[in-house]
Amino acid sequence: MGIYVHIPFCEKKCYYCDFHSVVVGDLTHFAKVTDDYLISVRKEALYYKKQWGNKSLSTLFIGGGTPTSLPPQKLASLIRFILHEFPFAENPEVTIEANPHTIHLNDAKILASAGVNRVSIGAQSFQNNLLQSMGRLHRSDQIEKSVLRFKEAGIDNVNLDLMFGLPEQTINDWKDTLMSALSLKPTHLSCYGLILEPGTPFAIWEAKGILRFPTDDDQAEMFEIAREVLVKSGYEHYEISNFCKPRFEARHNLLYWMNMPFIGLGSGATGYLNRRRYTNIAKISEYIKGWMNDCPIYERESLISEKQEMDETMMVGMRLLQGVSEIDFMERYGMSFFEVYPLEIEGLLNKGLVELVNGKLRVTKQGLYLENMVSGAFLP
Ligand code: SF4
Repeated sequence: MGIYVHIPFCEKKCYYCDFHSVVVGDLTHFAKVTDDYLISVRKEALYYKKQWGNKSLSTLFIGGGTPTSLPPQKLASLIRFILHEFPFAENPEVTIEANPHTIHLNDAKILASAGVNRVSIGAQSFQNNLLQSMGRLHRSDQIEKSVLRFKEAGIDNVNLDLMFGLPEQTINDWKDTLMSALSLKPTHLSCYGLILEPGTPFAIWEAKGILRFPTDDDQAEMFEIAREVLVKSGYEHYEISNFCKPRFEARHNLLYWMNMPFIGLGSGATGYLNRRRYTNIAKISEYIKGWMNDCPIYERESLISEKQEMDETMMVGMRLLQGVSEIDFMERYGMSFFEVYPLEIEGLLNKGLVELVNGKLRVTKQGLYLENMVSGAFLP
């Protein structure tokens, strides 16, 4: 079980992004806002500490936004505070997200000394023209520099986020990005196909015909190329979009894919505790106002029934290539998934989208490309 902390600040909004973040330059008194924000996160942490009790935690993930847009000393202090206040097990995975141009060697050392042992770098592409067209602020040479700085600071467990399906991106661009990423020897690679989120500049420009995007077939080919290249290079394809060197799975993300409880801290963050899912108010000033009065403000809050949790466990679990274990499911819910979803599973088996291997229900290669259909089968 783990803790997620959302740091909702970015230097600039990327053209495809609909994550919750505000642009630093748009905030008056940025230092004051971030100080108040970090105080609020600490208050929220203490609030959930009481509810959490003595159960052991194994992961801490600082995401965003761009966490490294904050001064590293302030981030380090927050990380130390959380690691100290909660009952973390030995050797927890402590991850921070970073953008390549926002990290200097000294910053990386400060973060490492606070306990950070894994970094997830938003590389996205190694073509400068594509980075520019996405609205990213870094250049490709800064990706290598940031990886080297983290490694020099002692943080060897490095994930690179890569994107395919970008406007004007060719198959060769994608191959080149994969090879450049491999040359940096990351332990983990996340390869995401671009999704046009409504309201983003990319979606607007696509609708107006200003930008041309690779076709669905091109995207499928890029995904297949990633699988081939990365698996050949010794990476395990363990989740639809994620690849890792043996034993370097993202432990924090595994919690989500196994539908386990976690605490979410920060504006817009979601948490799942005692069968209750909550999403914090996204507006930063409101979030701060709530905690200045020692009171959470939620955007959404719902109780999750056991059946809903089962549905979600199957839906997210089918993203993992190892699939969902029948024994684990029985231990958790007292019955087999075959009893709960007889028709759904039969339908997927007949279509060749899933298979049962060593007691685990998992997607087939064909199912991999129709993952939405597989997960969707477990929607009520
Ligand atoms: S840096 Fe990340 S969170 Fe910030 S705007 Fe870009 S994609 Fe979104």
